[in-house]
Amino acid sequence: MHEHRIVNPATEEVVATVAATTPAEVDAAVARAAAAQRRWAALPPADRARLLRRFAAAVDDHREELAQLEVREAGHPVTNARWEAGNVRDLLDYAAGGVERLTGRQIPVDGGIDLTFAEPLGVVAVIAPWNFPMPVAAWGTAPALAAGNAVLLKPAEATPLTALRLAELGLAAGLPEGLFQALPGDGPVTGTALVGHPGVAKVVFTGSTETGAEIMAACARQVKPVTLELGGKSPNVVFADADVEAAAAAAPASFLDNTGQDCCARSRILVEHGVYDRFLELLEAAVKTFRAGDPAAEETRMGPLISAAHRERVRSYVPEDAPAAIRGEIPAGPGYWYPATVLEAAPEDRAAVEEIFGPVAVIMPFEDEDDAVRLANATDYGLSGSVWTRDAGRALRVSRSIAAGNLSVNSHSSVRYSTPFGGYRRSGLGRELGPDALTAFTQTKNVFLSTEEQQ
Ligand code: NAD
Repeated sequence: MHEHRIVNPATEEVVATVAATTPAEVDAAVARAAAAQRRWAALPPADRARLLRRFAAAVDDHREELAQLEVREAGHPVTNARWEAGNVRDLLDYAAGGVERLTGRQIPVDGGIDLTFAEPLGVVAVIAPWNFPMPVAAWGTAPALAAGNAVLLKPAEATPLTALRLAELGLAAGLPEGLFQALPGDGPVTGTALVGHPGVAKVVFTGSTETGAEIMAACARQVKPVTLELGGKSPNVVFADADVEAAAAAAPASFLDNTGQDCCARSRILVEHGVYDRFLELLEAAVKTFRAGDPAAEETRMGPLISAAHRERVRSYVPEDAPAAIRGEIPAGPGYWYPATVLEAAPEDRAAVEEIFGPVAVIMPFEDEDDAVRLANATDYGLSGSVWTRDAGRALRVSRSIAAGNLSVNSHSSVRYSTPFGGYRRSGLGRELGPDALTAFTQTKNVFLSTEEQQ
């Protein structure tokens, strides 16, 4: 039996061992899920909604336990981890409200009536990354269940503990046995078995662009729909007419939150020429207050990176002799720590082009609005971005000109369960969250009913 050792990235201690799901076990899980899905879809909608609300309540009751698991397996600061567990509860509650609103249409036609039905797809595979194990799992799982599907959740190798606990909580809350299962395991084995399984009707994948492209190709062979939430290299555009103090105060969290292991990280800071020096000075002071330390401590803002291998990858973007404009502090001792780092870079530098997925941002000046938009779009990705300005017309003009799915003005927020989220270009395909989230887990059936008199 193949097992994964789950390591606390802040202490390097093994906190659990978890058995990897074999392809034969994937087969059995798909069969159980298919049977459960048929029972689930046949329940009255109000009962399905009620069960999802009970699941949400169970998550709320176990919020602290789930948060502590995320502190241990992912090194997330405990205040972040509590928010993440609360986000799962909110996603389930929000999706529960959609069960009874999943209406079809009645379309005017000649000779009868025409009706559409939003039918579930069947068994959905949700493949999650290690950076936000709970929220990302729930983004796919909650609306898929609400739309009448079963869900097989494959967590990342490093972070299966919250997924396993969520599946237990769902079962205890009354979901049919087999409807929502967590299947930990290796991407190329367990993940591949799920993606290629003819009994899996859709794949929701969140992770790297390279793996997403492979999964899309595998799905194409079976004409299987796929939602892809992939990487990013998002800009933070600060104009001279902005509240520069507020922009500098908000910037650290926008690339240091979750130690920069965030697909929406604003890791390219673009600042208008005239306020560049002032902004850099303010940013340095703000970065120094972003405290890295024990994830279990309430005051900690930044934990370690997920693994030693990932730290080496991040380090490869910051050569030893790189003249860092800003460098933060990290604790001594064990743990995969990496300091907050801001590099003054040229647009073509590797650090300015590739997703680093660590607490490293590049900063560059721009000349005017056209130059800002050109630099903001100088990437293959298109997930998020921020625009800081006091000119409302410019805010909208620039937001509309940036090729990305999620923009924020004078703010860095881009993810809310009630608003759509997803990427342009190589950042993804399809949208999650928001009022239409359930639709991505349905297929439309059209039924024409003749009202002609029968002879
Ligand atoms: P990854 O692509 O290595 O792995 C993601 C998941 O896919 C894991 O569960 C892994 O086991 C599985 N997997 C790997 N190979 C597979 C295969 N061949 N078939 C099926 N499954 C396979 O990504 P990661 O390093 O865990 O996550 C980091 C990436 O995720 C970053 O690029 C980040 O930007 C992206 N991300 C995107 C979003 C978004 O919403 N756009 C959110 C979070 C993370």
